[in-house]
Amino acid sequence: MTGSASRPLLQRDVQSGDEAKQLICELGALFYTLGWVTGTGGGISIKCGDRIYMAPSGVQKEHITPDTIYELDLQGEVVAGPGPEFGLKVSECQPLFMAAYRLRGAGAVLHSHSVHAMLASLLFDQHFAVTHIEMLKGMAGAGYTDLHQVPIIENTPREHMLKDAITAAIESAPANTHAVMVRRHGVYVWGDTWIAAKRHAECYDYLFQAAVEMKKLGLDPSLPPG
Ligand SMILES: [Zn+2]
Repeated sequence: MTGSASRPLLQRDVQSGDEAKQLICELGALFYTLGWVTGTGGGISIKCGDRIYMAPSGVQKEHITPDTIYELDLQGEVVAGPGPEFGLKVSECQPLFMAAYRLRGAGAVLHSHSVHAMLASLLFDQHFAVTHIEMLKGMAGAGYTDLHQVPIIENTPREHMLKDAITAAIESAPANTHAVMVRRHGVYVWGDTWIAAKRHAECYDYLFQAAVEMKKLGLDPSLPPG
């Protein structure tokens, strides 16, 4: 533990595997209330040092406990996790999370089944696009007047089958884009730390909802005002 460990977790990154596991449980409960991980959907992972922690697959994310969290190495191989008596397996998002860790040096990657993300994915072709909305300033490297774009890939019958498409989308996305949307499904969001990833996820969710509402009002969210 360094001296900064005495600061509250909301002001700093995780500094131990135990902190990462505890935080994944807390975020699972929080994101459930937002409708991001209901119906056992979505996923949460956090990196700490040379380890990546991930929630299990197909369970109620609001009820996960630290002893059900998987520990992976930087190659994405499970090195520790709940014993066979739990009957669990690692998140099906694992290869998709690993793409963001590998290609963007992410500190955390989140996957949301938010209805706002799902609806917004229906209203744009290959890229979600928005400009001149205050919440754009919550994205690292993005500004209010930018035309901010998020790639949209097509959904597949199984989550892991998204791997090649999400990899290509991350590789081609601008550096200040921190998400990939999956049509009729949801969104993957990352950040340098769990704090940035959570902030990005909240700002994107706001922008997705805003864009849906603007389109209903006949407004184009990808155009500047005036
Ligand atoms: Zn999903």
